[in-house]
Amino acid sequence: MEGALTARDRVGIQDFVLLDPHTSETAFMDNLKKRFTEDLIYTYIGTLLVSVNPYKELDIYNKKQMDLYMGVNFYELPPHIYALADNAYHTMLAEANNHFILISGESGAGKTEASKKILQYYAVSCPSTTLLDTVRDRMLVSNPVLEAFGNAKTLKNDNSSRFGKYMDIQFDSQGDAVGGHILSYLLEKSRVVHQNHGERNFHIFYQLVEGGEDDLLHQLGLERDCKHYNYLMQGECANVSSINDKNDWKTVRNALSVIHFDESDIQYLFGVIASVLHLGNVQFDVDKNNHASMNSNAELRWVSKLLGVHVQVLQEALTYRKIEAKSEEVLTPFTVDHAIYARDALAKAIYGRTFTWLVNRINESIENQDSTRKTVIGLLDIYGFEVFFVNSFEQFCINYCNEKLQQLFIQLTLKAEQEEYEAEGIEWEPVQFFNNKIICDLVEEKHRGIISVLDEECLRPGSATDLTFLEKLEEKMGNHPHFVTHKLADKKTRKTLERGDFRLLHYAGEVTYCVVGFIDKNNDLLYRNIKDVMRQSQNAIVKQCFSSLEPDSRKRPETVATQFKNSLLGLTEILMSKEPWYVRCLKSNENKQPGKFDDVLVRHQVKYLGLMEHLRVRRAGFAYRRRYEVFLKRYKPLCPATWPHWRGVPADGVEKLVKHLGYQPDEYKMGRTKIFIRYARTLFATEDAFEIC
Ligand code: ATP
Ligand code: MG
Repeated sequence: MEGALTARDRVGIQDFVLLDPHTSETAFMDNLKKRFTEDLIYTYIGTLLVSVNPYKELDIYNKKQMDLYMGVNFYELPPHIYALADNAYHTMLAEANNHFILISGESGAGKTEASKKILQYYAVSCPSTTLLDTVRDRMLVSNPVLEAFGNAKTLKNDNSSRFGKYMDIQFDSQGDAVGGHILSYLLEKSRVVHQNHGERNFHIFYQLVEGGEDDLLHQLGLERDCKHYNYLMQGECANVSSINDKNDWKTVRNALSVIHFDESDIQYLFGVIASVLHLGNVQFDVDKNNHASMNSNAELRWVSKLLGVHVQVLQEALTYRKIEAKSEEVLTPFTVDHAIYARDALAKAIYGRTFTWLVNRINESIENQDSTRKTVIGLLDIYGFEVFFVNSFEQFCINYCNEKLQQLFIQLTLKAEQEEYEAEGIEWEPVQFFNNKIICDLVEEKHRGIISVLDEECLRPGSATDLTFLEKLEEKMGNHPHFVTHKLADKKTRKTLERGDFRLLHYAGEVTYCVVGFIDKNNDLLYRNIKDVMRQSQNAIVKQCFSSLEPDSRKRPETVATQFKNSLLGLTEILMSKEPWYVRCLKSNENKQPGKFDDVLVRHQVKYLGLMEHLRVRRAGFAYRRRYEVFLKRYKPLCPATWPHWRGVPADGVEKLVKHLGYQPDEYKMGRTKIFIRYARTLFATEDAFEIC
């Protein structure tokens, strides 16, 4: 019928690889939009899953859907996050090796939601026993707890991850999910004491104030009114329509019991949260010598009570610095600014260390005790790339982290893939792509990168400031194509830059960073006498957090940026040793509006995520490859010539085997050490035949 849309016209194509071989970016976008309009938010590029945030609840995440996807071949059903989770799981079981799922995309694109859906899928679909149910429940409920403590409302996302999370889910050889382990990366601690307009502190503070039982609030000396607390009100948006702090409180409270926190731990934990709120209200006066002074006010008494430290000792630690000169201890009084700095530093330190304690505690509770061999699927969900009106040290770290993950993606897909074809002698038309290694180097290179320059300034005694750091950058980075400042810019660009800014041309776009606070945040100093006081705390969590091995006090501790850089290096190593799966999340619009597809915004993400290049490599390339020995070992029962033994060269055996199976010449290529299979469906057919035999 003329004019009528076919089903394919309406819902588009579910795997971009099947689009016309000369797919343009426009055709790519058309397909994505067509599907999005029909609430089909998932599309494949081969085995990579593209997901577009619908900003509305879709009825596709229920038990019925999970059952549908369980054990079904990847391409037999519409694309879904469950299909990817299931495929990773079955491949892990069949090959007895480790996998990871890299979920990437900018802030608000849907990474955390995707990671939760995957975890839920494993929790429901894997075989089950009562004992395992306990571990599994704990893994599931660890999510709302960590989100309460590590997520916050930002201008980009009402539930923005302010820490990076990598979670290993461990499976035994039967495929039971038997345990897990979480690694966390650099929490944005500065949010505890400062929030920009329109943003909030971490959710847990509002949950406690809004949802905490009357008795509890009374014990903690808290009022049921966020407006009362300086640390909660800087963004002037304590209430957010999409967030129900009262309900979330109940979820978290219940989760803490499921994770098996005992009541005293829970009391100490809330004591920490409340002490931070009280600290934020501690004020200082100026005495006649221009030094900070304070009356032993009610707020201070509450901090002292909740942390279990003597009020005078605390007061002294917040208004004096103790310096050891020769064998004497000298007390130097703070100015008010200094005292505020020390107070905020303490609040950040208590919260940051408690977060680490929490992750460790959750790990103890989801740890699998027995030592039998396990395989894992790692889930990576970090803070997405973000650009605000003013960007600071935190955005610098977050965007650098995204830059590293993009580099990993490039290395594992675009670069390694093409190098492998070359090494294996497979004919190949190279696909050009932008390699962001140049930006990673700019940030992290030893002795020359931005982090090194920053560290050098941090170590320079005396006169180093944020501005001298900027000057050093200008000296060292001078004509780097991805770096510019007011001084280095041409006339036109200069108009868009302030004097205290530097701009990086990230893979995902330009970001202008304001240097104010870089030195301080990178040093992250906490005065020694404050640490000493915390070590005497009667609050068991605080005591533990400050007593655990402090680095040798004679050596300077590693700076924040360097620690972060090293932890990302460790993460890369963990991931490189596993088989990758990718979920690329796209943000559909900037206003969190349900069903709205902003073409310009989505196209920009498609571009910088390298999806077109990935498609080109995928289409021209081969979905599956295995060493001849491995392939032969698994499938040899399918051919009389190779079963039970093949005595010749493995490659010849494989050739015999695939000919017997009816592989067409365009479906595979024989490399030097591996067979390359073009389409996943070819392999699925072989796998089906194997299951039957
Ligand atoms: P960040 O980098 O800031 O942590 P993120 O990529 O983790 O961002 P999410 O928190 O997962 O982003 O998603 C932001 C919001 O988008 C969610 O709170 C939810 O409202 C909506 N959203 C994301 N994915 C989906 C989905 N699959 N279905 C419905 N809504 C979704
Ligand atoms: Mg997130």
